[in-house]
Amino acid sequence: MIQTLAIIKPDGVKRGLIGDVIKRIEEHGLRIVAMRMMLLSKERAEFFYAAHRGRKFYDSLTSFMCSGPCLAMVLMGENAIGRWRELMGETDCTQAAEGTIRRDFATDIQKNVVHGSDSEAAAIFEISCFFNRFEISA
Ligand code: ATP
Ligand code: MG
Repeated sequence: MIQTLAIIKPDGVKRGLIGDVIKRIEEHGLRIVAMRMMLLSKERAEFFYAAHRGRKFYDSLTSFMCSGPCLAMVLMGENAIGRWRELMGETDCTQAAEGTIRRDFATDIQKNVVHGSDSEAAAIFEISCFFNRFEISA
């Protein structure tokens, strides 16, 4: 059983998409084992996305991520990392497959509604940014 970090980004929270996203997670058989609403500071957003430091979109991405509250969740299940990324769809919503969250709801490459860890190492780091082990009901 693998855990992954899912975030409903500020655009998704503002647009009232929490229910739609959670419905898809549960229908897909992924278990939500932790959940927290959080308004990130710029420093925390930069720390969280440190892997992208140096990319041209880093400053605008980290500003966007602290433009309103995020809903962070730990998802658990077999191949949770890959299954959640499959549900999200491609980063660029114009390239995302039909039926994915980003295809159905994202408005541009940055405001793409959801985040998901892309590897086991990333998942461990990213989960630790939002939850301690007593906050995860696995
Ligand atoms: P995430 O890490 O948020 O789950 P991802 O793994 O699909 O998304 P990454 O390449 O890790 O995509 O990029 C992180 C985030 O940075 C994207 O989800 C998007 O919000 C933003 N982003 C990526 N590429 C661009 C770009 N070219 N211009 C603006 N924002 C971008
Ligand atoms: Mg990523």
